[in-house]
Amino acid sequence: MTLAAIETRIAAACVAAGRPRQAVTLVAVSKEQPEEKVAAVLDSGWRIYGENRVQEAEGRWAARRAALRGLELHLIGPLQTNKLARALDLFDAVHSLDRDSLATRLARAVQARGACPTLFVQVNLAAEPQKAGVRPEDLDAFVDACRRTLDLPIFGLMCIPPVEDEPGPHFARLAELAARLDLAGLSMGMSDDFETAIAHGATHIRVGSAIFGSRQAAG
Ligand SMILES: *Cc1c(COP(=O)(O)O)cnc(C)c1O
Repeated sequence: MTLAAIETRIAAACVAAGRPRQAVTLVAVSKEQPEEKVAAVLDSGWRIYGENRVQEAEGRWAARRAALRGLELHLIGPLQTNKLARALDLFDAVHSLDRDSLATRLARAVQARGACPTLFVQVNLAAEPQKAGVRPEDLDAFVDACRRTLDLPIFGLMCIPPVEDEPGPHFARLAELAARLDLAGLSMGMSDDFETAIAHGATHIRVGSAIFGSRQAAG
């Protein structure tokens, strides 16, 4: 699909949900995509991209960062603390704040820099053992510690529902958790389910293969 076709679907989902189009940010997930496809979407004027690895993102975006006005980069994959400084150099938003040790290190780095990326706490809604994220039962304490102890501004919550489940109920639950914590941001919805996510209040949808095609093998 082209970016224009995705845009049409987003606009229709917003109308159906009674939400303004500006309420939803499309993050075009360029991870593991060939350079010529990303270049084509860039040429069309799109400026908001998501990557899941710091190193791969540096290779693709570090040089462009200076040259491209309005470029906005979102880290959507796990962040190792030893790559924290490099991530903060490159990314405007981090969707994967998922543990205490990262929050502590992030708070220190943010204080030293005097600037903080837009932060989403990743929630492991179904408590899947192989998946990163704060468990729902630990979320209140985690967000509270970020806000009060660490002085880290949390913008929203992020989730990746279990692949075998209907996503709707998971999106509804994330929205409920965010509302209870008074958080405005909801990063949820990917290629297969972004319309459902918009219906449940997503503010950021992360769409890769529907825009760029299926990914190359991870390298
Ligand atoms: C890869 C990835 C996406 C994009 O997935 P698609 O199904 O290609 O849209 C979204 N979110 C995260 C966290 C990802 O790792």
